[in-house]
Amino acid sequence: MNHPLMGYYHRVQPRSSDPSRRGLAVDPESLRQHARLIRQRGLALRTVSDSLDAAGPGAAALSFDDGFADNLEYGVDALASEGGVGTVYVVVSAIRTAGGPAGEMLSLKELRQLAAAGWEIGSHSVSHPRLPELSEADQRAQVRDSKRQLEDLLGAAVRSFAYPYGLYSPVTVRLVQEAGYANAVTTAKRGGGTSRFEIPRLSLGGYGFRAVKQSLKLRLRLLFERPPAVAPS
Ligand SMILES: [Zn+2]
Repeated sequence: MNHPLMGYYHRVQPRSSDPSRRGLAVDPESLRQHARLIRQRGLALRTVSDSLDAAGPGAAALSFDDGFADNLEYGVDALASEGGVGTVYVVVSAIRTAGGPAGEMLSLKELRQLAAAGWEIGSHSVSHPRLPELSEADQRAQVRDSKRQLEDLLGAAVRSFAYPYGLYSPVTVRLVQEAGYANAVTTAKRGGGTSRFEIPRLSLGGYGFRAVKQSLKLRLRLLFERPPAVAPS
């Protein structure tokens, strides 16, 4: 394996909540269990960019696409209980504006709370298009402008990009590099070689039987992850 182990989700919702979009969600208890499995394997649960900087099998990263408010409500505690932090990939045009009612998507204030909790805020484009279907200029605007806008809003560097729908072309990859990102994640299970701009992630979200399957998938993948050279402190 050339990259640290990476998993991804969308929503974090208790089983009892609205069943809509459940296929995209993980319940907090399953998420906590995933973080525990990673820790018990001796891997540190870090942000996507930090896990890459750790350069080796000693780290893993769990990330959350689209920017749902429940990532803050449930995700932070679930990962922190196992000493970990996460990464959220935000669709910039969907950030809830100040003063609005509590909603599904993260507000700027909530994004700052995530950052203060040690989470990484990455870009998931301006409006979540299928990037390879756009002109180069439009792709560039999605990739570059989302980074600039997020950095202006957060006052911090945005280093990581997640391709919407996991879709990208060689042009997309080049534009992500030109925009100054340090890395980019896909939704492919494997592949990407050693490229920091085509990093595979395991899909780990799901309820019920699917959650059981996903835990098994994570356990199997952790078996193949080499233990860290140095014992975790
Ligand atoms: Zn998405």
